[in-house]
Amino acid sequence: MDASTTATPTGPSEGNGRVTPVMEQYIEIKAANPDCLLFYRMGDFYELFFDDAETASRALGIVLTKRGKHQGHDIPMCGVPVHRADEYLHRLIALGHRVAVCEQMEDPAEARKRGAKSVVRRDVTRLVTPGTLTEDSLLDARRNNYLVALARARTSSTETASLFALAFLDISTGEFRVMECDRLALAAEIARLEPGEIVVSDALYADPEVAPYLRTLPVTPLARDVFDGATAERRLAAYFAVATTQAFGTFSRLELTAAAACITYVERTQLGSRPPLSPPTREAAGATLMIDAATRANLELTRTLTGERPGSLAASIDRTVTSAGARLLNQRLAAPLTDPMLIAQRLDSIETFVDDSAARAELRERLAAAPDIARSLARLVVGRGGPRDLAAIRDGLAAAEALARRLAELTEQPAEIAAAAQALSAPDPDIVATLSAALADELPHLKRDGGFVRAGYDVALDETRALRDESRRVVAALQARYAEESGVRALKVRHNNVLGYFIEVTAQHGEKLLAAPLNATFIHRQTLAGQVRFTTTELAALEAKIATAADRALALELEIFERLSARVTGATETIRRVAEALAVLDVAAALAALAVERDYVRPEVDRSLDLVIEGGRHPVVEQALQRDGGPFVANDCDLSPPPGESAGRIYLITGPNMAGKSTYLRQNALIALMAQMGSFVPAKRARIGMVDRLFSRVGAADDLARGRSTFMVEMIETAAILNQATERALVILDEIGRGTATFDGLSIAWAAIEHLHEKNRCRALFATHFHELTALAAKLKRLFNATVRVKEWQGDVVFLHEVVAGAADRSYGIQVAKLAGLPASVIERAKLVLAQLEAVDRTSPARRLIDDLPLFAASARPAPASDKTADELTQALAALNPDEMSPRDALEALYALKLKAARRP
Ligand code: ADP
Ligand code: MG
Repeated sequence: MDASTTATPTGPSEGNGRVTPVMEQYIEIKAANPDCLLFYRMGDFYELFFDDAETASRALGIVLTKRGKHQGHDIPMCGVPVHRADEYLHRLIALGHRVAVCEQMEDPAEARKRGAKSVVRRDVTRLVTPGTLTEDSLLDARRNNYLVALARARTSSTETASLFALAFLDISTGEFRVMECDRLALAAEIARLEPGEIVVSDALYADPEVAPYLRTLPVTPLARDVFDGATAERRLAAYFAVATTQAFGTFSRLELTAAAACITYVERTQLGSRPPLSPPTREAAGATLMIDAATRANLELTRTLTGERPGSLAASIDRTVTSAGARLLNQRLAAPLTDPMLIAQRLDSIETFVDDSAARAELRERLAAAPDIARSLARLVVGRGGPRDLAAIRDGLAAAEALARRLAELTEQPAEIAAAAQALSAPDPDIVATLSAALADELPHLKRDGGFVRAGYDVALDETRALRDESRRVVAALQARYAEESGVRALKVRHNNVLGYFIEVTAQHGEKLLAAPLNATFIHRQTLAGQVRFTTTELAALEAKIATAADRALALELEIFERLSARVTGATETIRRVAEALAVLDVAAALAALAVERDYVRPEVDRSLDLVIEGGRHPVVEQALQRDGGPFVANDCDLSPPPGESAGRIYLITGPNMAGKSTYLRQNALIALMAQMGSFVPAKRARIGMVDRLFSRVGAADDLARGRSTFMVEMIETAAILNQATERALVILDEIGRGTATFDGLSIAWAAIEHLHEKNRCRALFATHFHELTALAAKLKRLFNATVRVKEWQGDVVFLHEVVAGAADRSYGIQVAKLAGLPASVIERAKLVLAQLEAVDRTSPARRLIDDLPLFAASARPAPASDKTADELTQALAALNPDEMSPRDALEALYALKLKAARRP
């Protein structure tokens, strides 16, 4: 089909086609929302037309039909039933679409009153975009859904100097923060937030500095005015109805710009309603442990390398009992802290609940009963809440009250818990009382279904309901009376949506009612195959009365709903704090439960460069092994600066495949990360000198699962580490260099270690299968060899998983191959070949290399070797005196010079 025939027209009166009034209205509304799919309400369906219909039918797999013609062409159409709209919205949003929902703003009957041709008034009531969702059905309860606004400061000259501001908020929970960062940190910050949607200015979207990077993210470019720095502060203040944002803290102009862009976008998508956001708080640069996307993926923090949640660190350590708690735990895991004092505060709370198991159990039981009040509150504020959201607030606040009382009984209240207890007891108890009195036990999902106000709460409502119910009883009595009068015992009064109330008898009895004298009472309405249906004037009158009573009852209920909702939203700020406090308690109690369950200890985090872990275990592998009944072998690690040195150590770990090298590397990184997120750790003892950046890379061959396992990726990622790691960083390099030929790989690994040691001076764990590298320990003072022990037993290799000082004596590749079931003949032949190779290579080339090669620091001077030769040549030339040379001398001198030059590398 030619695109131009289905493209949405931009104006109603173009060309010579006649446009129906409905289409005219559609085209006008669509023109105002060009970048959204338009869900156009028609009765019980949302219909899509033109391009939108084609896009949606493809995306949703629903039938594409047509409706009428536009300029001589069929108009493509598809529709989704209103009651299933959420499900379809969910799928469209997940695919990155934006949807404008257009509702009928009046009863079609109203429109008809204005004349036969008039169209029902319609208007867009909201824009649904990935970053601005509030519905539970569209959200993952246990994860935040962030909207991020990205602004960049205009820097004139150098590209690297660009400064960015990130503002991010979750409108479903009210969290709102801003921060500044540079280009390098930007990727890591975005990786931590996993935004549902990022808004940027058109200009930034097209800018070569960030464009390639933004393209892989869910980005929405917006017109420049949204990012206008001059009006930012005013827009922000207006949203929070304050005179100036200074009350919230000091923000840079760039931060204000990003924050204002965020809220402007929220207002646009929510069409003016203002979800309950907390005032923006500023995240200081360096306040959190920086972890880039590749490291997050490698360490499987929230997802495994194959993309699943089970098997990730998050899934393995999550013992929270509420969705809000799960969200906070994920946040803390994504952004561990760097300030030892703040970390200690979190650890204090956990310790309290580790020590007091009764309080922990009771707390967790009460928390489990507390609903997700942050999200209910957000829906109520934007007018999308239902009766169950009110009930959630009631139950949440009731749980908060009880929790506050229980916390008051604690013998010790560390700062975090004391603050939570205070927030929990803040709301007016009258809110719970009012909601309890007003809400029925069983609640409908939607307020328009009615029946959610408790009987006895409102006199007027009770009376109307009595009238409605009384009339229903009268209907029943009427049936008995008509059966009696007509002598048709099987006569029934029924109800359906088309006819309303009617009397139904079988065809055989129908004759009787159609004849005199009964036909004076019974008025024929419908004859079906087996039944005949009637009404009576009395029944019709009753029906009208019932309908009116039901309508009035619903209207009264909706009024009550608005009153209750206003009561709740009037206390938005205190309720939001309660929600936060509940999450904080849940996380503290959950991490305490985890610590007790898995025998974790409280780590120490200080500002040293030490890193001492005794008896460390891998938090995920340990649990997996336990399920299979196997023990996990605990291991020590000490990367602290050796005596007299000012920087930490590098461990070079060798050992055969399957020995446990990768596990060891990761467990130490995870323990440091868990300590800094404020969690107990799987170890006997742990002392972590605060880490500011965590890097983890895996050699290409280990990385197949991600489907981008090229040597290039490995090198790009390694380059990032060598360029960025400082003394405070912790670097994990697993089999770097194995994605290429042996000598290439060995050389790259060799040079990388020297660089880490001499330039980065960071703490590092480096696993390798290049045994030659162990020779480096002789030259590099802070490099230590470690190996994972194996035992050879009757020609087989037995893995002990025990990390000890020293180098692996050999790689046991053949033994591992044997374990894997390679045919015996192949194994035997391989042993023979190996013996031959080893005989040839007895004198390790690496040992000679280590003596011949100058140290990295010396060799790293810009092209030193060639300078040296050039100097020699210059000197030799200067020493010549051509006037005093015989032709033969001259020729010999020339040969000598040539020889010198040839030694040049
Ligand atoms: P490598 O990187 O040396 O090839 P891995 O770290 O991948 O080895 O470990 C291989 C397997 O050995 C793991 O899947 C795990 O089941 C087991 N393993 C590793 N470390 C330990 C340990 N400390 N205790 C018990 N089993 C372990
Ligand atoms: Mg490995």
